[in-house]
Amino acid sequence: MKDIAEIRADFPILNRKVYDKPLVYFDNGATTQKPQCVLDAVDEVYKSYNGNIHRGVHFLSDMSSESYEKSREKIRAFINADKREEIVFTSGTTGSINGIAFSFGERYIKPGDEIILSCLEHHANIVPWQMMCERKGAVLCVIPINDNGEIILEEYYKLLSSRTRLVSVTEASNALGTVLPVKEIIDAAHSVNVPVLIDGAQGIQHGIVDVKTMDCDFYVFSGHKIYGPNGIGVLYGKEKWLSELPPFQGGGDMVDKVTFEKTTYNELPFKFEAGTMNYPAAIGLASALDYVLNIGREDIAMREKELLSYATDRLSAIKGLKIYGTSESKISTISFHIKDIHQYDTGMILDKMGIAVRTGNHCAQPVMDRFGIDGTVRASLCFYNTKEEIDTLADGIEKVKSMFA
Ligand code: PMP
Repeated sequence: MKDIAEIRADFPILNRKVYDKPLVYFDNGATTQKPQCVLDAVDEVYKSYNGNIHRGVHFLSDMSSESYEKSREKIRAFINADKREEIVFTSGTTGSINGIAFSFGERYIKPGDEIILSCLEHHANIVPWQMMCERKGAVLCVIPINDNGEIILEEYYKLLSSRTRLVSVTEASNALGTVLPVKEIIDAAHSVNVPVLIDGAQGIQHGIVDVKTMDCDFYVFSGHKIYGPNGIGVLYGKEKWLSELPPFQGGGDMVDKVTFEKTTYNELPFKFEAGTMNYPAAIGLASALDYVLNIGREDIAMREKELLSYATDRLSAIKGLKIYGTSESKISTISFHIKDIHQYDTGMILDKMGIAVRTGNHCAQPVMDRFGIDGTVRASLCFYNTKEEIDTLADGIEKVKSMFA
């Protein structure tokens, strides 16, 4: 693996100061920082070949289209999907889930049908299903979690029934860091012919995702959480599902023939890409994936495991600090609370020390309700973070405590 100093030099923002202190960026679960190659790739589109994709016959449009389709191929290879037709660009994880929830609801859902989620879901993997259930008279069923923040598989098996139409779960919890046993979840659902959507927003950047081995029916993620630009996301769907599902948005490019009487739709994947897509961001995302492959996904996972272990040891040693999410199987995210100190106070004081952490319910209110709290402080680490930064956080927390003593 590249030397850590070299890695950090790839990310211009990591060099900046905040309130005259070196930035310690521990909010990677919310969004990751971008390496120079990603900034350059997006810049290059606008500087030298910007033209709307799939529309013109002119040179710039051709060049943009070609680059956009090359990005699709990169993404296909990155998650090991079978075909490029199975890779749909969206605005992000939220856009992908809303799209599938709408289309799946229109095509398959009847009153009394059930959708299974877990208690660990981000609001983006709850609300779109709830909206669909309200429209269609369907019901949400929720897999409970134990005190470590792990889903209780036996309870999931009990929820699976002839009424279940789809299971939609996260690969890893953004609030607690728990990694879910997605293979077991998928295999059990498939044994009763139920498809599964995996929310990969917190999974894709921490390990090797192989949708073929996983055998999920849908896999969704956001570019900005894997060192790519904002405003771009991916919806992977097995071809058999994407062929059957109706489009979730209408407009330019997703059509074959339009008359006022009837419209026929474009082939996959374009059927799901209405209007002008964010092609500069898609091109930037491909560059981010190249960057990740270049560093090495196994090395990234190993380094993050090491950082998680170090941070867990350092933070658990702090008196009065309680960690939420104590599964053996976690991404490099630590959610915690300091006794008698509100998470916003902790977050705001740490900020003044140049340390960026997330505070609040992390768009996962049901998780907070499960633990009877209204929020936590969350430090989400990634491979460009260092043990020294973890020391700075631990020292910062001690200072917060002393201020409230
Ligand atoms: N799911 C999970 C697990 C997430 O962590 C997030 C972002 N925090 C989302 C969905 C939504 O992602 P986005 O806002 O990029 O659409």
